[in-house]
Amino acid sequence: TDIRELLLSRIRDVTDYPEPGVVFKDITPLLADPAAFSALTEALAEIATRQGATKVVGLEARGFILGAPVALRAGLGFIPVRKAGKLPGATLRQAYELEYGSAEIEVHAEDLTAADRVLVVDDVLATGGTAEASLQLIRRAGAGVAGVAVLMELGFLQGRARLGTALDGAPLEALLQV
Ligand code: 5GP
Repeated sequence: TDIRELLLSRIRDVTDYPEPGVVFKDITPLLADPAAFSALTEALAEIATRQGATKVVGLEARGFILGAPVALRAGLGFIPVRKAGKLPGATLRQAYELEYGSAEIEVHAEDLTAADRVLVVDDVLATGGTAEASLQLIRRAGAGVAGVAVLMELGFLQGRARLGTALDGAPLEALLQV
């Protein structure tokens, strides 16, 4: 469709970043184009509304840029999931495996309640490790999962399969597939 073509046209392939052999999907041209950024916000907010979300979680750092306007557009609160050590209050922390080594993310536990159904928003789903850990955090906080919504899914990295258990039937929606 038109919107997909617009979004795709504003994503730049950067070869050999962050390391040789990797083609990084750079969304900064999309952010710099207000028509594309607005269309993206609208499309993700429509998912939030359709899935009955009560909160939007954005994943550091590009998930903040997308998730905040999506939350406002859908009339929902925004909650940042940050790399460990950045949030000042009482947090829940979740470790996850990377290709080399591991990482940890955190959320302010009191920002989520049992009444919440949370939509996780990020720019790119790659291996799915970050999104999987965020779903585990949301569930550990006692909240429900409305789904995961991303601009782009890198299908060859099998993130959708990795997310399966953590999604537990909730939808993963990607506006673009690579
Ligand atoms: P994953 O945990 O799914 O392997 O990696 C996803 C995280 O890394 C996301 O937060 C995403 O922003 C970032 N990421 C991985 N690959 C890319 C990429 O090619 N382009 C962009 N923009 N982000 C990426």
